[in-house]
Amino acid sequence: MTKRDFYEVLGVSRSSSQEEIKKAYRQLALKYHPDRNPGNKEAEEQFKEAAEAYEVLSDPDKRHRYDQFGHEGMRGTNYRDFRDINEIFSTFGDIFGSGFGGGIFDEVFGDRRSRRRSAQHGTPGSDLKVKLRLSLEEIAAGVEKRIKVKKQKKCDVCEGSGSKPGTGMAVCPECNGTGELRQVSRSMFGQFVNITSCPTCSGEGRIVKDPCSNCHGDGRVHGETTIKVNVPAGVSEGNYIPLRGQGNSGRRGGPAGDLIVLIEEQPHQYFVRSGDDIVYDVNVSFPTAVLGGEIEIPTLTGKAKLTIDPGTPGGRVLRMRERGIQHLNSYGRGDQLVRINIWVPSKLTGKVKEMLKQLTEMDHITPSEEERHANSRSFFEKVRDAFS
Ligand SMILES: [Zn+2]
Ligand SMILES: [Zn+2]
Repeated sequence: MTKRDFYEVLGVSRSSSQEEIKKAYRQLALKYHPDRNPGNKEAEEQFKEAAEAYEVLSDPDKRHRYDQFGHEGMRGTNYRDFRDINEIFSTFGDIFGSGFGGGIFDEVFGDRRSRRRSAQHGTPGSDLKVKLRLSLEEIAAGVEKRIKVKKQKKCDVCEGSGSKPGTGMAVCPECNGTGELRQVSRSMFGQFVNITSCPTCSGEGRIVKDPCSNCHGDGRVHGETTIKVNVPAGVSEGNYIPLRGQGNSGRRGGPAGDLIVLIEEQPHQYFVRSGDDIVYDVNVSFPTAVLGGEIEIPTLTGKAKLTIDPGTPGGRVLRMRERGIQHLNSYGRGDQLVRINIWVPSKLTGKVKEMLKQLTEMDHITPSEEERHANSRSFFEKVRDAFS
């Protein structure tokens, strides 16, 4: 299908002014608008045809090119066919938005425009990150924490709109309500269109006419809030809990960002974590290791009695089942591992020294040649395993 002459489409002369072209297009757009001609394919085609013609003739550069070369001259430029009606609205929103002062255009276009606007209402708020330090006890059982967060909150005075109560928004004069700016640049390969978000309205297409005095039109203010965080049992250092919509409020009613709670593990006075097990080193006296006995040790929930069997060697690890940390993703919990160390006293009275000297002369106190070497190989294996 050959394209009709653009001047003919709009019904204007080749010497018509920009104002005349704009006016002609408005009239055609109104006449063939799909809302007024439901289901009328012919009207839709004419509506698109008018939009194509207007896109070229309303731009002095394109118009000049068209005047010189006709439709051929439009090849390789950013000129395009409008296939989607909605694209016409996003491109020429200005024509329908400004300068027409309500009336029939608002009636005809109002519905569609307001839907488009509400979809891109405000600008989203940014995410916030907070660190949450937890004790091993809190991690073991899970905990509910309240944390204070400094963040941008919705302005109470304007309820986030940024406008003084009772006043509305205006179409952004910079981008004429489209929210974007188009810059045409030329190169040896042809014309390029650079589309950027409008800085005046931050891409919203609307600006605050009368800014709220509390938030100066931003729709949010700096504040502090207390947020409840449910930390499940078994979390680890570096885990994070995202709280949707608890971050900074969006600008002018935009959606809020997320609050990212980053878990930090406080070092414990006694315990070292190993997966969901906890490791505890205990010093026992030589007589207790030899004769056996009961000792009291700390646990994550309090204290426990631990039986030391007679003849317990130093380095032995005793396992206390289910005294560790609750698994994060499954039932059950880890264990508490207790490593026995034989305590060597450093301050001795003369009497004790004398007794120990006597002891070394007793049978089976000093290891025999064979007994002295009994653990050497297993120690080597432990070292090798630790570094392999
Ligand atoms: Zn406000
Ligand atoms: Zn703008």
